[in-house]
Amino acid sequence: MAVVIVGGGHAAGQAALSLRQAGYEGDVTILGEEPHVPYQRPPLSKQYLSGEYGLEKVHLRPAKFYESKNIALRTARVEAIDAQAQQVACTDGAKFSYDKLLLATGARPRRLAVAGDGLPGVYYLRTIADVDAIKETFQAGRRVAIVGGGYIGLEVAAVAVQMGLSATVLEMEERILQRVATAPMSAFYHNLHTANGVVIHTGAKVESFAGDGKLRGVQCANGVFVEADLAVVGVGIAPNVELAQAAGLPCDDGIVVDEHARTADANIFAAGDCTNHPNGLLGRRLRLESVPNAMEQSRVAAANIAGKPTRYESMPWFWSDQYDLKLQMVGYPAERHQRVVRGDPASHRFASFYFDGNALVAADAVNSPREFMAARQLVGRRIAAPESLGDSAVDLKTLV
Ligand code: FAD
Repeated sequence: MAVVIVGGGHAAGQAALSLRQAGYEGDVTILGEEPHVPYQRPPLSKQYLSGEYGLEKVHLRPAKFYESKNIALRTARVEAIDAQAQQVACTDGAKFSYDKLLLATGARPRRLAVAGDGLPGVYYLRTIADVDAIKETFQAGRRVAIVGGGYIGLEVAAVAVQMGLSATVLEMEERILQRVATAPMSAFYHNLHTANGVVIHTGAKVESFAGDGKLRGVQCANGVFVEADLAVVGVGIAPNVELAQAAGLPCDDGIVVDEHARTADANIFAAGDCTNHPNGLLGRRLRLESVPNAMEQSRVAAANIAGKPTRYESMPWFWSDQYDLKLQMVGYPAERHQRVVRGDPASHRFASFYFDGNALVAADAVNSPREFMAARQLVGRRIAAPESLGDSAVDLKTLV
């Protein structure tokens, strides 16, 4: 038996380990195009950018770990799948046969289709190589324009001002984090960043990057021009589905898989950022961009490959680190939901619980890990008295 895993990111590394944990004894080969052992991306916009972490802390596990588990790691880009022959072909000519194939191809940054996008000094942030390039100019006294007020952009802004750069965030929507957080949380993070010296322009759609051989500044459609030595763009990602698509596998904003992480081909599985998968708890299909999803879906894929039928059913959750604040979120809050706050936002320690009627549907917690742990267990349940969650005197354990 042989399992081939395409992609060398979080999902790939976790899947290989989970196969061994599930008792799978056949060959396991990871084919990843980046010249690194599988690594975690969250530190790239946080501790690796700031220099606090070296590469060894970014790698999921050292190379010798994979050796000890008899997992083969190869730097190779897979260019085709022959599903009938159960074989993949790499750009270097190598071919690998599989009994089961796992696609963990992840995603790539969406590019801005504007003039000057290719100018030296304009960066996208997805890989170790991207951050190594950014770091060459990411230094005290420099001016960085950050395009996109999502989590990655805001994390970069936080690191920038802490390192002595001046940082300007350009967000085309009316508020930062519009796609991923409620209005009160956007306002909280807006105030946090401006208090730390970040300049934020909302309603600022980038029209072009200006410069002659090198970035000079960023021009927005509303007339705002921001002078900059470098720009970091974080405007979302696109799943890497082309390999699956060319092999005839259905794709729809992600490789379509079932709750067992299986594609339309019974021998091909997919996990992580590249998938579009059903979520029974939410009653709809999703594409997620998070480490918890990459890890949990990979475990499910590995268990199924190892012959242990397992379903992926988990309430989506995510985290972000900015300054000394850890934000943890679970579920999908909406403006129409009733929000109950526990703790005081001014103290930078609080949790918000979101209710649809008396059903708890989502929560976000700032520097409140206990509240977040409880929320993960409570989301999806009905709470007798929603307002009781806002009372710090009520022990959350009694509600779990
Ligand atoms: P990826 O990590 O994208 O890995 C896929 C790999 O496959 C890549 O190395 C790619 O080059 C390779 N590949 C693709 N096609 C081929 C091919 N044909 N042949 C060979 N190799 C191929 N999530 C959180 O939950 N919390 C955070 O705080 C957080 N912070 C983040 C910060 C940054 C800067 C970034 C970029 C992401 C962050 N994320 C965070 C998201 C998280 O890192 C991703 O959800 C996770 O990395 C997904 O893992 P993956 O293995 O599915 O995909």
